[in-house]
Amino acid sequence: RKGTAVITGASSGLGLATAKALADTGKWHVIMACRNFLKAEKAARSVGMSKEDYTVMHLDLASLESVKQFVDSFRRTEKPLDVLVCNAAVYQPTAKEPSFTAEGFELSVGTNHLGHFLLSRLLIDDLKQSDYPSKRMIIVGSITGNTNTLAGNVPPKANLGDLRGLASGLNGQNSSMIDGGEFDGAKAYKDSKVCNMLTMQELHRRYHEEIGVTFSSLYPGCIATTGLFREHIPLFRLLFPPFQKYITKGYVSEEEAGKRLAQVVSDPSLGKSGVYWSWNNNSSSFENQLSKEASDAEKAKKLWEVSEKLVGLA
Ligand code: NDP
Repeated sequence: RKGTAVITGASSGLGLATAKALADTGKWHVIMACRNFLKAEKAARSVGMSKEDYTVMHLDLASLESVKQFVDSFRRTEKPLDVLVCNAAVYQPTAKEPSFTAEGFELSVGTNHLGHFLLSRLLIDDLKQSDYPSKRMIIVGSITGNTNTLAGNVPPKANLGDLRGLASGLNGQNSSMIDGGEFDGAKAYKDSKVCNMLTMQELHRRYHEEIGVTFSSLYPGCIATTGLFREHIPLFRLLFPPFQKYITKGYVSEEEAGKRLAQVVSDPSLGKSGVYWSWNNNSSSFENQLSKEASDAEKAKKLWEVSEKLVGLA
């Protein structure tokens, strides 16, 4: 049978390119879990996906209620869950003030981390029940949260500290930053990506042996043309793609990045669990090292426990 993959944020950029790459193989049905139904439907058509290869379903990660509703609606389709890809993200590098999710969490961490945290926890059972031979859960990471890289050292650097801001609710009353500091939109995004990478490793430690699911994260390369940079200043948006193409040489097209993520979804050679994948300039994949903080097992455990409380699982 065809595999069923749920991809969050498949209405643009990496998520869309991955949906397209999987659909093109003829071996996958993609559930595009998106906040904007019409946009997702148009996007699928614009890249030439055929109707029988995808289903658009509503999911707004900035609302925990919507996450629960998505899980219910997905279960009602009676489709198996073979692969879950947590891909959606918001990035607000120029925001002066924090904005908040429906439940009142700072938006970047609330969407990118807490929304996906609840989604992945609820869908673990569904993955467990699938009889697909290679079940996987992928959480898209990033180099920018990795302070052992050049890009990860561009200030403001990711730093979760002792998680005091998160533990106090991330609601702007005490702080809207995980480490309890002053709001900084670019840092909040990077922090959320560290959370994504820590969560993947904690899922691996807690579930891999028991249920045989492969947990992975990845840095697909710098996809400088996606909507992720939509809130950046116009000059940045103009100069960033050529800078990445010719100076850092980290640039990758949306199509190529989609193929990379599709490999993490289905390539037998990328089936090892607990791995953070990256690609060389010649597009061959390798197991990359994470920074000290992004591979800190103690912090991953603490993040897990604090996040469980915030999303109402504990
Ligand atoms: P895009 O902005 O193109 O795509 C992000 C997707 O997330 C969009 O489909 C967007 O929906 C969706 N989204 C945002 N908020 C929500 C929400 N509340 N609920 C549901 N969906 C939501 O960015 P990219 O494709 O670049 O980003 C995809 C992933 O890749 C992210 O995890 C990002 O961190 C990661 N990444 C990107 C890099 C890059 O260079 N671009 C580098 C490294 C990692 P909508 O279309 O409705 O806005």
